[in-house]
Amino acid sequence: MAETKHPSEIARETLRQLAMRRVPPTPDNYRTLYHEISGTAAIEAFPERALKTIAAGLPKTAPEQLRFGRQFEAAIAEGTWDGVKTSLADLLAKSAAAPPNWSGLIRDLVSQHEIRHAGITAAKKREALDHVLSASGTPDVLFGRLQSLVRTWSQSGTAEAATVESAAEEGAAAGGKSVAATRQIGAELQELLATLLDDALGTVLSEAPDLTREATGLATDIRAAQTTEQLGACTGRLKKFSYRLQFVAEDQVELRGALIHLLQLIVENIGELVVDDQWLQGQVSLVRDLLGQPLDLRQLDDIERRLKDLIYKQSALKKSLNDAQAQLKAMLASFVDRLTDFAATTGDYHDRIGACADRISSANDINQLSDVLNVVMQETRTVQLAAQRSRDELVEMRDRVRQAEQEVARLQEELAHASDMVRLDALTGVLNRKGMDEAIEREVARSRRKNLPLSLALLDIDNFKKLNDTHGHDAGDQALVHLAQVVREALRPTDTLARYGGEEFVIVLADTRLDDGVQAMVRVQRDLTRKFFLHKNEKMLITFSCGVAELGPAEQPADAVKRADQAMYLAKRAGKNRVVAA
Ligand code: GH3
Ligand code: MG
Ligand code: MG
Repeated sequence: MAETKHPSEIARETLRQLAMRRVPPTPDNYRTLYHEISGTAAIEAFPERALKTIAAGLPKTAPEQLRFGRQFEAAIAEGTWDGVKTSLADLLAKSAAAPPNWSGLIRDLVSQHEIRHAGITAAKKREALDHVLSASGTPDVLFGRLQSLVRTWSQSGTAEAATVESAAEEGAAAGGKSVAATRQIGAELQELLATLLDDALGTVLSEAPDLTREATGLATDIRAAQTTEQLGACTGRLKKFSYRLQFVAEDQVELRGALIHLLQLIVENIGELVVDDQWLQGQVSLVRDLLGQPLDLRQLDDIERRLKDLIYKQSALKKSLNDAQAQLKAMLASFVDRLTDFAATTGDYHDRIGACADRISSANDINQLSDVLNVVMQETRTVQLAAQRSRDELVEMRDRVRQAEQEVARLQEELAHASDMVRLDALTGVLNRKGMDEAIEREVARSRRKNLPLSLALLDIDNFKKLNDTHGHDAGDQALVHLAQVVREALRPTDTLARYGGEEFVIVLADTRLDDGVQAMVRVQRDLTRKFFLHKNEKMLITFSCGVAELGPAEQPADAVKRADQAMYLAKRAGKNRVVAA
């Protein structure tokens, strides 16, 4: 069999042998027999079980270990040697990468701090170090910043540099002044490091109590250290601490990502659930907008405030709506009661009239008949009165029900309107970016349907930063409100004003050609110079630069806005306070 060399022949022979020897045709049996026939060495099967045992026994406490464990297990599950090889190579590469050398850095820092450099006073050094230490960041960032600080110091004029020792010698001669200064700097550095561990990291680590304890312990020991040896004893712990800190930081980043993802999921699902509850859409769209951009504390704050406003307004309206609906229900219930009473009254009447009919048919004389007739008339009058009363009550009730229905409809509309408020800018009350997008879409569709021209203007207040800086942010806010009001008054009701961002506004000029658009904006500009903005009884002139673009027949509105923006930029370049056509 060994002389059969062609693979297809070996394969055929293998299958024949499997059948002849009555061996089950499993991949393993096929492989073994194939190698037996071809005379080649069998390649060992992938030892999945053995590798899994190894994977299960790996340490999995630190995030880095967990990550490697996951990668390793995935490679085993894939059943290929390539994956296992890659994950092991990764691990080795990572472990070979040198960890940040904190002890070396601190040594360099202390020695560079002590050396006297031309042009850098000790106070300046302290200030720079203070600055680096007080800026928050991950240990890696801190390491990098401290390193570049040391580099800066070491690269600046070392001509007058003097080591601690020579400074000490000199100092001894000069009455020990520099030694004292050096000691003091060392002590300050020690204190800064302790403060960093105690205060700065303490707040960051609120969710890792054992690490906080370690930071506090380290801070205490660093503060208490009197000799270089005692301080040196902290280095190892400091290094270990910085490692663990890195894990915590990585975990927090992952946690934040997961939370945002979760929130996104919830918002998407609520969005689908509330198609019928129009009033909730506003809340959902606020959160959705927020998740669509990088997180920013100021923006989070702003959205929280607007969401609270919206929820407050809606809950008040919801309460009135529920009350009105409850009242409506109560009225309908008594409506039904009245009808039942009426039916009962007429039912009695029928019974009594039936009895009278019997008495009439069995009456023998006229006296008996007259008695019965009296009863009939009496009963009829009673039922007539009851019918009249019920009719009046029912008519009145129907009117009240109508009123209640109208109130419910009004409240529902108001509730939906509160949700629409999300499309307005909270400060100026004009449309916000979202409202603007919807308005542009609507206006463009309308103008294209009616074959009318449409222009878009973009204005940006001139030197607004200066106004803010000179008179404060509140004055800036009021100036924005003033500008929005003047622009609104100057434009036609069919034009739409929206706050595009910061101190930029977009105006959708319906049924307007480019030239007319430019003229309209020049008019606004003139109005603004006439209607002063008053701040603390001081007249202030606000001007803006503006670009106007007419929407092309097949142009995307966003492109026209872009052209208007470019024209606005040209207006700025040309000296501001002017309108430029795109
Ligand atoms: P330029 O004439 O070139 O447009 O200069 P500028 O100062 O107006 O422009 P810049 O973009 O440098 O500054 C805009 C300023 O607008 C910066 C920012 O603080 C301020 N700003 C943005 N939004 C608001 C806001 O809502 N309220 C206030 N008060 N200021 C704002
Ligand atoms: Mg601007
Ligand atoms: Mg500006």
